[in-house]
Amino acid sequence: MPNITNDPKRKSWLEVPENSDFPIQNIPFGVFLTKDDIITIGTRIGDYAIDLGAMQQLNYFEGIELTDDMFMQDTLNDFISDGKKTWRLVRNRIGDIFDNTNPKLRDNKKHCNIIIFKIDEVEMQLPVLIGDYTDFYSSKEHATNVGKMFRDPENALLPNWLHIPVGYHGRSSTIVPSGIPVHRPMGQTLPNGETQPVFGPSRLVDFELETAFITTDCNIMGENIPINEAEDYIFGMVLLNDWSARDIQKWEYVPLGPFLAKNFASSISPWIVTLDALEPFRTKSPKQEPTPLPYLQQKGKNTFDINLEVYVAPEKAKPTLVSKTNFKYMYWSMAQQLAHHTSNGCKVNSGDMMGSGTISGPNPDSFGSMLELTWGGQNPIKLSNGSERKFINDNDTVTIKGYCQNSQFRIGFGEVSTKLLPTFVRK
Ligand code: MN
Repeated sequence: MPNITNDPKRKSWLEVPENSDFPIQNIPFGVFLTKDDIITIGTRIGDYAIDLGAMQQLNYFEGIELTDDMFMQDTLNDFISDGKKTWRLVRNRIGDIFDNTNPKLRDNKKHCNIIIFKIDEVEMQLPVLIGDYTDFYSSKEHATNVGKMFRDPENALLPNWLHIPVGYHGRSSTIVPSGIPVHRPMGQTLPNGETQPVFGPSRLVDFELETAFITTDCNIMGENIPINEAEDYIFGMVLLNDWSARDIQKWEYVPLGPFLAKNFASSISPWIVTLDALEPFRTKSPKQEPTPLPYLQQKGKNTFDINLEVYVAPEKAKPTLVSKTNFKYMYWSMAQQLAHHTSNGCKVNSGDMMGSGTISGPNPDSFGSMLELTWGGQNPIKLSNGSERKFINDNDTVTIKGYCQNSQFRIGFGEVSTKLLPTFVRK
């Protein structure tokens, strides 16, 4: 089935501001609450939110096999379960309905009023019910930086790292969409130079610049997904801020890895950008040396050129750009991660989320966490209001943005923006 939505010449009859992340070539999927408190599945063009539930009721998806209430749900899980063929049919149909040569909805003011909302009139929700969340550790630069700081500068990468997309099972209960503030966690730490641990507010709260992919139903338990089929099971991507408490992490992570330092909050952008929309921005990931084992070997363009930025804004101050990097630097691809994840027969379901791991580039201004940007707090970052940061302070807002850009158009993710509140106080 052709992917006609990506035609760069296509224009919408809905106004799309210049440099919008959401031209008619994007057509991401999300879930929102309208001002009448109705929850629906939707898409976005320019600064308009489009109610796909209303479109379905008004017959705009006629001829596509969908269950009657497919889009009148509070998660995308069932739609994602329907598979790639249905995603394409629906995305192509939306592109067609909003094409400026198509008068069908454009000239029907009554239907427009039911289907189209201004983006600031809706409240974005989590797009999927995330059953399971896995976080990888797939940036060689990040793993090297952390290895240098926490272990041994001479042997920063552990022996398994170049052979396995290293990961751990995270927790989905504390994943929240952009705009929902999170609290500084309490936790147990071992202060520098002390022999006894203490319990109190984490002093080293950090962001992790990541993307994540959302899967469809992949396999039955026991079955694996071959590497060359893995991308067919990936619905799309979001931006992820995988909040981390470095002092808690340092004390607790031996020998079983991350636990309470990571599971107090993870924030995601609300629109899932499909792999189909990202297709024009395909590129090759870094050469893998040594060559991985056959079940992880990939040929051709196996990743995407996605520009990523992180901003930190103190309360009532302008945001400062603190990091600029690109998804294409990741050593392990999404397909390798998913093939590895299912290689033992682990079942992966519709709506599962897999984090990339912190995305750090080769230069010091392209690192994906404060831990690396300030090198463990040794080199504080100066913000535009004159204040300094080693890590994230109470009431700071951290914003991650991501977009692909070529000479013809831009496909973006919008942002994930989150305020860090002081520790929760029980009343
Ligand atoms: Mn992470």
